[in-house]
Amino acid sequence: MQYLISPYNKEVKYDFKKDITVYDTTLRDGEQTPGVAFSKEEKLTIARKLDELKIPQIEAGFPMVSTIEQDIVKAIANEDLDADIICLARTKIEDIDVALDADVDGIITFMGASDLHLEHKLHFTREQALNLCMRSVEYAKDHGLFVAFSAEDATRADLDFLKRMYKKAEGYNVDRVHIADTVGAATPQGIDYLVRELKKDIKTDIAMHCHNDFGLGLSNSIAGLLAGASAVSVTVNGIGERAGNVSLEELVMSLKILYGKDLGFKTKHIKEVSEIVSKATGLDVPYNKPIVGKNVFRHESGIHVDAVIEEPLTYEPYVPELVGQQRQLVLGKHSGCRAVKAKLDACGYKVSNDELCEIVKAVKKTREKGTYINDDVFKEIVKNTSLSDP
Ligand code: MN
Repeated sequence: MQYLISPYNKEVKYDFKKDITVYDTTLRDGEQTPGVAFSKEEKLTIARKLDELKIPQIEAGFPMVSTIEQDIVKAIANEDLDADIICLARTKIEDIDVALDADVDGIITFMGASDLHLEHKLHFTREQALNLCMRSVEYAKDHGLFVAFSAEDATRADLDFLKRMYKKAEGYNVDRVHIADTVGAATPQGIDYLVRELKKDIKTDIAMHCHNDFGLGLSNSIAGLLAGASAVSVTVNGIGERAGNVSLEELVMSLKILYGKDLGFKTKHIKEVSEIVSKATGLDVPYNKPIVGKNVFRHESGIHVDAVIEEPLTYEPYVPELVGQQRQLVLGKHSGCRAVKAKLDACGYKVSNDELCEIVKAVKKTREKGTYINDDVFKEIVKNTSLSDP
């Protein structure tokens, strides 16, 4: 058995679209994390890894930012990956030209939709915004690009205006419209309402782009998918502006294990891609980060360890191998005989029962004195507490 979930999950019918596109924006929104700038080699490495994971669409960057960024996006587009390569573009013709020069398969273009953004960022009226954004959509479509139109701050926009904006984009044959919960200001129930409202008038595919300011990015994304959206954005380790985006690993594993929606990803590469992104960003993954954190498959408590040795699923919802992690039994003040015996076996030591009891006592004492029990410390303890000569 590789996983065991709550049977109550199955009491609910989950109405997902048959095809769900996960598009990864680690290389664009993720790179907008303060202090993060990937090198060309780092971006190429991450893109190749995402492709190995079988992510179908990669947002590789924002080529208008600089000539270097343009060169990097172009290099990724010419890597011959299975994934489609898209990039961000403002609603300006020059941005679309730069995207075309970078050989991408498509673009995400965007326009502020809330009055807050229109008044205080763009200084446009609603009508101006509607007219401006569609010129570039038309131009990009004419040049054969996949075009996604994103309404920025959509979750704080007037619903009628938002519908008009998407409707207009639909009129220009956009391939997808994006709901950006730009500052993570929605609840899952609010997202459910919004997507269902939009579905009444919009026939185009809808994507969710959720931020995690309240820790609800994942729930909001899944709520959107259940309400009829068919695409969703993620970043590795959930990196991105402020509190970040929805984490790729959490979304993929929640859909696969909890919701029974397996999108065919090669999840065994998840830990590796997390490590690559952590290194490239210089941002450590928190030990308790779901799926990829160091502590997610680590057990110390004696009661837990005893049970896990007999059946791992007692204290794990799924086995670590599914995401390229490894189970670790950590010795400490909560350790019992069974955990210590397992460690002795793993290290190739044979001891009597009396010796085992002495070693357990010494392990607890050493940890309580403040020393972390790594392999060297453990071997030292065994050496010092052996009752008989080897
Ligand atoms: Mn964003």
